[in-house]
Amino acid sequence: MNNKPTITVIGAGLGGAAAGALLQQAGYPTKVYEQAPAFSRLGAGIHLGPNVMKVMRRIGIEEKLNAMGSHPDYWFSRNGMTGEYQSRIPLGEFARENYGAAYITVHRGDLHELMVSTLDQDNLYFDKRLVDVDDSGNKVVMTFADGSTEEADLVIGADGVNSRLREKLLGPEAPIYSGWVAHRAIISAEKLKAYDLDFEACVKWWSEDRHMMVYFVTGDEKEYYYVTGVPEPDWNHGTSFVDSSREEMRKAFEGYHPTVQALIDCTETVTKWPLLERNPLPLWHENRLVLLGDACHPMKPHMAQGAAMAIEDAAMLVRCLEEVGAEHYQQAFELYRTNRFERASRVQQVSHDNTWLREDEDPAWVFAYDPFEVPLKQPTSQGSPA
Ligand code: FAD
Repeated sequence: MNNKPTITVIGAGLGGAAAGALLQQAGYPTKVYEQAPAFSRLGAGIHLGPNVMKVMRRIGIEEKLNAMGSHPDYWFSRNGMTGEYQSRIPLGEFARENYGAAYITVHRGDLHELMVSTLDQDNLYFDKRLVDVDDSGNKVVMTFADGSTEEADLVIGADGVNSRLREKLLGPEAPIYSGWVAHRAIISAEKLKAYDLDFEACVKWWSEDRHMMVYFVTGDEKEYYYVTGVPEPDWNHGTSFVDSSREEMRKAFEGYHPTVQALIDCTETVTKWPLLERNPLPLWHENRLVLLGDACHPMKPHMAQGAAMAIEDAAMLVRCLEEVGAEHYQQAFELYRTNRFERASRVQQVSHDNTWLREDEDPAWVFAYDPFEVPLKQPTSQGSPA
């Protein structure tokens, strides 16, 4: 007989999928509800550092990801105008030896599809938008936009930057528009062969107030990807992204190095996304409800660690439930928060400042972290840092 509590995860994004997979593996009867009717292969890439790959190992997809992804030997930072190198951060073999797993870059859609495939498909529900949640004390009742209701013992809000669960815990409050946008485009590497230029596997081009991060998103290096950070005072589009254009990119990166100009010339479609943040939240859990990922610490993507933090959260949350026993879920949730708050807030701050790896620095505090092995800090009687 299974005495473990029933758990519902709201949101099958990268954090929700990780939480669902790890909970199901640990024997928790877990259902995952996602508002989208289906997922598409959106044109975007993502870095997976060794800290995330260690969680992927537990989920059982590390080898598939290693085969799927590009394995850069270095992260280069370069002056956007002159091309001068500002940092050379060793990854590749160095990362495997020193941080305990590979550093890869992949297509976000491929990663997401693989992660979602690890969930029990009979307990994964699409087209289910949570609209209300009632934590009566003995159980949680969730109401969805289609009028249906479901019950669970515990509910995890992995529902992203506009989290309905966060709103339930802390009241309605829109995320903060940071004043920066990100352009995203995938380029066919075939087109780049026309240029006598070096297109490095992982490089960030910087100038005073903007940047362009570039990397391959497939192991065969057929798809190259850029994502920018460019100041734009207002965002009034009311959507999560809009179309941008080659002309807009040329204007934004005027005077940049010929390699960057070549990428813009080869761009077929490019989208533009507002970068949203929140200040660290005073509350991550209450009674039977708990948050993870962008629902509790959305950040600018400038460290390439937003999803990484969501996935680490998922791992730590499951570890804490196992550590103290799920019947003591409030203790487990506080132990989870105690062990995640400081790190997530620090990553939020460095992402906000956009200083990560701009100059040579030791990235071990991020990459060497293993949420399953790091010694646990116990909450103080006054509660952990807020
Ligand atoms: P999400 O991925 O937003 O998932 C939330 C899910 O919940 C969604 O599927 C949503 O449809 C669903 N949902 C929402 N509301 C409801 C509801 N009411 N009911 C049911 N379902 C709901 N991070 C990295 O680690 N590396 C990178 O290289 C990187 N690059 C980035 C580049 C850009 C331009 C941006 C904007 C972000 C980047 N990030 C990166 C950050 C990363 O995308 C996020 O931090 C990450 O997706 C957060 O994961 P999550 O699971 O918390 O939320």
